[in-house]
Amino acid sequence: MRQILFYMSSLQLMHELSLCQNIVELMEIEAKRQNFLSVKEVYLEIGSLACVEIEAMRFAFDAAVKGSVAEGAMLKMIEVEAMGYCRGCNLRQKIVFRYDSCSVCANYPLEIVEGEQMKIRHLEVC
Ligand SMILES: [Zn+2]
Repeated sequence: MRQILFYMSSLQLMHELSLCQNIVELMEIEAKRQNFLSVKEVYLEIGSLACVEIEAMRFAFDAAVKGSVAEGAMLKMIEVEAMGYCRGCNLRQKIVFRYDSCSVCANYPLEIVEGEQMKIRHLEVC
């Protein structure tokens, strides 16, 4: 019997890995559609509430792009602050945690209007 150790939570990593596999699929489709051979840089927008770990993301990305159109590409991650909307006072505001209450009228919970998403902002290709 052998003991196998993981240097980070393997469940968290599975999450990033499946996100990165989706990104690779999108890039492969885009490569055919827009006729490019390789991706050099990938710019991702990651919302602060997207439940994505930056370090796990780098690790998963390098694994997912092997043998794809983006093999060896640089991953640039842009963190997007979460924004909430308060129905009580119609104010948009920054939020740190999902269940933050309104900083003005203490209404709760705020409607999350930004910060849960993860998307490709753009690619540098050749
Ligand atoms: Zn409010």
